[in-house]
Amino acid sequence: MSKRFQSPGHVVVIGAGIVGLGTAWVLARDGWQVTVVDRDQPGTGASGGNGAQLSYSYVQPLADPGIWSQLPKLLLSPDSPLRFRLQADPAQWSWLMRFMMACRGSVSRDTTRQLLALAARSRQVFEMLLQQEDLTCDYSASGKLVLYPDAKGLDGARRQLDVQHSLGGALQLILKPDACVHVEPALAHYASRVAGGVYTPSECAVDCGALCAALHQRLADQGVRFVLGQPVRGWVTEKDKARAIQLQEQTLEADAFVLAAGTGSVHLARHWGVRLPIYPLKGYSITLPLTGDQTHQAPRVSITDLSRKVVFARLGDRLRVAGMAELVGEDRSVDPARIASLKSATQQLFPGVMDEATDVQPWAGLRPATPRGLPLLGRHPAMPANVCLNTGHGALGLTLSMGSAESVRQYLRQWTSDPADPRLPAPVACSA
Ligand SMILES: Cc1cc2nc3c(=O)[nH]c(=O)nc-3n(C[C@H](O)[C@H](O)[C@H](O)COP(=O)(O)OP(=O)(O)OC[C@H]3O[C@@H](n4cnc5c(N)ncnc54)[C@H](O)[C@@H]3O)c2cc1C
Repeated sequence: MSKRFQSPGHVVVIGAGIVGLGTAWVLARDGWQVTVVDRDQPGTGASGGNGAQLSYSYVQPLADPGIWSQLPKLLLSPDSPLRFRLQADPAQWSWLMRFMMACRGSVSRDTTRQLLALAARSRQVFEMLLQQEDLTCDYSASGKLVLYPDAKGLDGARRQLDVQHSLGGALQLILKPDACVHVEPALAHYASRVAGGVYTPSECAVDCGALCAALHQRLADQGVRFVLGQPVRGWVTEKDKARAIQLQEQTLEADAFVLAAGTGSVHLARHWGVRLPIYPLKGYSITLPLTGDQTHQAPRVSITDLSRKVVFARLGDRLRVAGMAELVGEDRSVDPARIASLKSATQQLFPGVMDEATDVQPWAGLRPATPRGLPLLGRHPAMPANVCLNTGHGALGLTLSMGSAESVRQYLRQWTSDPADPRLPAPVACSA
């Protein structure tokens, strides 16, 4: 990234999730005068209680050819991690159609390639952030172990690893069950029930909600303005530019705008007749406090149990357990059955880390998912050039946040250097 230069102007970032806050940090360092607007407090959207994994190397998109063989079980099993409620909503049908198209092998491989490149950029910027700012967020270079229930799944993983290695991905090792226990002794009770695992020593974990809170504080200290508790209701446009956003009782003018409002971005793009291909993919988490013996019985390495599609991440003296994917619209309610299922998974993998009295802090959030699993970055052709998209990060928003912030910086740099440049739509790094 470049050094500070004369302020290019005032930018409003809409959304104070990890994507908006990361963008605010990168743009403030680049000399922009930054205002962040959110209808709520920072980190109260999908970023708050997510799976906490910085999954830079394990980026396999949900839209994958392997989904077809799993689909009957995923749709029919009562405790399936996937739940689907057909709505009278053309946006849902259109998303599903595009998702199915994205499951073709060639598309899935191209998606993986783009995600790996963005994740590598994200790691660089994230490491810079951690070096430069003192952020309390339970960050750890934990490594990650993905457990496969059967040999067929493990063979599929081997093929995916070959693809990733050919694209320059980090070191990943296929492990037998006893080697899984060697890497993570807390798996001793469970390892005999898996066919093996894929271990990526370089993966990391961080409490995304705590990171949002810490970034909010640091950015405010550094002069970034926050307008919180105020929903953005619309836009004020002038010729082919956005001039301001409309809040409850005021308008807020700026030279440029970044739309980083997660699932809320869809509504805000409609002003220009644009239907962003983003649909909420609901997930759940629990967070267990660890005391005494429990600290030894809980994993230190991040674990993904693919048979249940549940992830476990150690956050200091807590264990975060997250999973599920529900296509049920904008419903953020916490379903007790899903929480019971996360508890049961925890007890099966790591008996002893919780009991019935444990306060598990149930949480639900909506991943802003595009059909392919690629975020929308840069200018939309039907929207003004001074509105930059940074949304649709789906299941990898924490991982990709800092890389996509850097893409936004590059886009706005180009825009300020020559707003009339006809090649301006070019910096869109990924398409949905
Ligand atoms: C269960 C679960 C587990 C996950 N695990 C991981 C993981 O391990 N690793 C990973 O990388 N990713 C993970 N994710 C995905 C990740 O959490 C999301 O991709 C990421 O949080 C999206 O960030 P965001 O800033 O775009 O959206 P959000 O965090 O939702 O932030 C959007 C913000 O915009 C605001 N907003 C919306 N509309 C308006 C409006 N009109 N006016 C003003 N403000 C508005 C909202 O209030 C919100 O604060 C997980 C997600 C879930 C649900």
